[in-house]
Amino acid sequence: MNLVLEADAKKPVYLRIKQAIVQQIKTGEMPSGMRLPATRDLARQLGVNRGTITMAYDELVADGLLESHVGRGTFVAEPYPHGHHDNGRSAGPVKMSWDGLFADSAESHVISSLLDLYQVSTLRDVISFSGSFPDNATFPLQEFRNSLHYAVRTLGAEVFAYGPATGLEKFRQYLATDMLESGIRLTADEILMTNGSQQALDLIARTFISPGDTVIVENPTYPGAVNAFSLAGARLVGVPVDTNGMRTETLEQVIALKRPKLMYVVPSFHNPTGACLSRERREHLLAIAQEYGIPIVEDDYGSDLRFEGAHLPPLKARDTGEHVIYVSNFSKSLMPGLRIGWCAAARPVIARLTALKQNCDITTPPILQAALWDFCRRRKYHGHLEKIRPIYRERRDAVIRLLEREFPRGTTWTKPEGGLFLWVTLPETIDTTELLLNVRQKGVVFSRGHLFYVDGGVRNTLRLSYGNVTIKQIETGLTILGRAARELFSRNADRTADKFLTHTVPLV
Ligand code: PMP
Repeated sequence: MNLVLEADAKKPVYLRIKQAIVQQIKTGEMPSGMRLPATRDLARQLGVNRGTITMAYDELVADGLLESHVGRGTFVAEPYPHGHHDNGRSAGPVKMSWDGLFADSAESHVISSLLDLYQVSTLRDVISFSGSFPDNATFPLQEFRNSLHYAVRTLGAEVFAYGPATGLEKFRQYLATDMLESGIRLTADEILMTNGSQQALDLIARTFISPGDTVIVENPTYPGAVNAFSLAGARLVGVPVDTNGMRTETLEQVIALKRPKLMYVVPSFHNPTGACLSRERREHLLAIAQEYGIPIVEDDYGSDLRFEGAHLPPLKARDTGEHVIYVSNFSKSLMPGLRIGWCAAARPVIARLTALKQNCDITTPPILQAALWDFCRRRKYHGHLEKIRPIYRERRDAVIRLLEREFPRGTTWTKPEGGLFLWVTLPETIDTTELLLNVRQKGVVFSRGHLFYVDGGVRNTLRLSYGNVTIKQIETGLTILGRAARELFSRNADRTADKFLTHTVPLV
């Protein structure tokens, strides 16, 4: 099979492969029933990863153009009766062809890398260090059921009506009071309830960003935020991160050069590195925001998940000049399926976000807000946090034990004081895509580090989530992963040595 790929470097390779195959099916070069090359062979022929071919084939199977038979291979499917008429009667439905209809933004590399992350993180029957999911086994089902019953029994029809777009008044009041404990002073009308933090980020992006505006982010950063800002047309500029979070000392230079509209940070247990922005850098960042009049979007998905070390005040707690748009949720610290988050900001901001929210989905389900409000006011949420913190701490310790024991020399990692993941840097000769393809066959997956960078990043980093794996799975999974990394390390070292032997000439 001779595939000619479109030369558009911005389009993901798997989509270009898919398009080339579609083209050959359309022109009849690939007739129905024809067997496609094995993914490994085509990958070798095109010089790409096998996973890329698998993604292209999977999409074509989903589109009905290919059929895959376990053990036999992948074949061109029988054609749909495209507009074929027999005695004036249609021979059957004409299958929609979606190719070429999607907006450029929906075909962007941001979407494909998110799909990539999503595909890995939702795999079943594997030991998954991917995703950043809390453990389903910790969910307080009985207690939450009681709160749902309370909401239905006591509040009745109110929780089945539309409810205000800003969210349930009593829940916003509860949150305003609760945030006081972390030093954040505001009133209920400075809060908007959202469907998880992701919706808050999306609303913020669409409220502030016009195409071409610049947003400063940590590099690496949370891909969901990259996606929200990029889809609104933003250009992202990454500022490096170390164990104390964003390196704010370079920020003023970047601001002078790029004139950003917003700065987005995850100061507590940064996704993906697990780092916390130090107290000094928090103050520095706020001072810069004040000086240049640039709002900060503070994504605080995780400060409730601190299991050791001193509490650090959120940026919002020190935000006397109302520069911070604070975003938080119950997704990692309680149950992500509730889809409940919120945004706290100055009133003019909340007003605009609310208008967009109304247009987007009218409101966050009142029944869930009411049940969660009841759950929180009975202090069940705080009780839940007490239960889960030691669990995640024990898992972090287990991950570090295994990293020390099983991984190749030269591997380094972060040691987060909370949250659900840590960041690993392997020796430079190891490409984590190769590593992932290798261990995936053995039932282990993780998130490759380069997917979190806004500029391509390096190939030898990875994020390990310990939220949704037991200690036993950590031991088994990281033994497999460590062994595979060691093998790649010594194989690549051999290759380097071979190259050295064959390509060098004596200097004398
Ligand atoms: N921000 C960060 C840093 C996250 O890690 C996530 C979830 N992965 C979100 C926001 C989105 O959270 P939610 O599920 O509440 O939409």
